[in-house]
Amino acid sequence: MSTVKRVAIVGGTHGNERTGVQLIKKFELCPDYVRRSSFSTQVLLANPQAVAAGLRYIDRDLNRSFERDRLQNQTLTSYEDRRAKEISQVLGSDSSAPVDVILDMHSTTSNSGLTLIIDEENVFTLQLATYLQQIHSSVKIYSTSCSGRKQDALRSIARFGFCLEIGPVAQNVLNADLFQKTETLIHIILDYLEQYNRNEVTLLDRSLTLYRYLEAIDYPRNEYGEIQAMIHPQLQFNDYEALHPGDAMFLTFEGETISYSGTSVVYPVFINEAAYYEKGIAMCLTKKAQVIV
Ligand SMILES: [Zn+2]
Repeated sequence: MSTVKRVAIVGGTHGNERTGVQLIKKFELCPDYVRRSSFSTQVLLANPQAVAAGLRYIDRDLNRSFERDRLQNQTLTSYEDRRAKEISQVLGSDSSAPVDVILDMHSTTSNSGLTLIIDEENVFTLQLATYLQQIHSSVKIYSTSCSGRKQDALRSIARFGFCLEIGPVAQNVLNADLFQKTETLIHIILDYLEQYNRNEVTLLDRSLTLYRYLEAIDYPRNEYGEIQAMIHPQLQFNDYEALHPGDAMFLTFEGETISYSGTSVVYPVFINEAAYYEKGIAMCLTKKAQVIV
């Protein structure tokens, strides 16, 4: 890409993730905060009805509603399907002014810390991730490039889409520290894009640590689909920590430990994310990797 011309900052894609919602309201009141000279920035509250209701979504997960086929299917009329079409027409390739970059702000009940989710490992994305990690060493990079997930997230309608997942924070709760950290990351990324446009990016170190998605793990369930165990206390909040074969993974309601039965060391993320109970995900396993950008 030659230069970044248009950037969208999005919040409230999930209506019960307040950090992003509140930051969007702040940026709407004070657009100067997110204004940079070399590109235009627009802000968007993605799912206003879900925000008003304090729910993740009204009819269906908006962040799984941007698949091309869905956007073109006129028979799909749920609130989120209609909203996805509207957003796609404003920000996506159907727009007269499609955005180049989307920064979608999310929060999670898991101990994600400051996580940047990338869906592709292209040069532009990896450079941005490296820069972010260089400025803010606690930032974790979670790559879903091998997840096989469809391009159905809101961020997928831009050429380059990024998701910030900040946690742990309960649904519908604001945490001042995480609010400020999310805002800081937005500013670092906007400043990076400004430097990128001016060809002034300097990376002190070209090596990047990232965590690549391996597989999603569900809770142990009975024949009726009911959960039979909880995240083990030794694993709770241990996102991005090594999980070795034989380490405790789940604890049944009877107090029995279920161990990790894999054969190699993995790094779980999104451990005990509240919104993933309905998706059948207790955690996602990743593999830690070092890449030279
Ligand atoms: Zn979310």
